[in-house]
Amino acid sequence: MARFVPSAFSRRRFLSAVSTATVPVLFLSRVRSVFGRRDENGSVQLEPTPAVGDDDLQLTPEETAGPFFRPDSPAKTNFREPSVTGVPVNVSGCVLDRRGKPIAGALLDFWHADSDGHYDFDGYRCRGHQFTDANGRYLLETIMPGLYPSRTRHYHVRLQAAHGPILTTQLYFPGEPRNSDDFLFRRNLLLTMRGAKEGWNATFNFVLKTS
Ligand code: FE
Repeated sequence: MARFVPSAFSRRRFLSAVSTATVPVLFLSRVRSVFGRRDENGSVQLEPTPAVGDDDLQLTPEETAGPFFRPDSPAKTNFREPSVTGVPVNVSGCVLDRRGKPIAGALLDFWHADSDGHYDFDGYRCRGHQFTDANGRYLLETIMPGLYPSRTRHYHVRLQAAHGPILTTQLYFPGEPRNSDDFLFRRNLLLTMRGAKEGWNATFNFVLKTS
């Protein structure tokens, strides 16, 4: 079976991947095992799932992918490899539809600069994709991205629900001096940051179109 290539984000490939009987189960079981935050004792602490309501939620804004996207990222929920050093950040949250219903099996493809502000074009450091679990949750264990000229601090991510369009966007950090000077910065793409024993826990809930 051909390997799923998330960076292409073609609907045909995505649907092919999630409709194959065994593949989603395998993917989701792997991803689910690492969802949630770890407390001081190493136990995983899951974020509460947002309540489903009648009101339409505001869709997560679209932003440019920029010039540093690289196709064919590997399945990876932990970017903290030996060659990736920096302040740890665990980014977690839910992917929801406009009614607040969690989207299981949504694809997220993250990429960002390393702590020195460099993107990896030779390999896939700080690049990887994953799928939300049965409750629409995701978790990326990574580092604080470094700054590079003309931009404030940010993560990049592309998302897609099984029957929905691609959303490309970016996530920002509160209190960054460059936020006010970066024309791409949007307040409604700010992460919520909480200090952790080592580094930070950052949360963000995405709201996607599903058709
Ligand atoms: Fe960037």
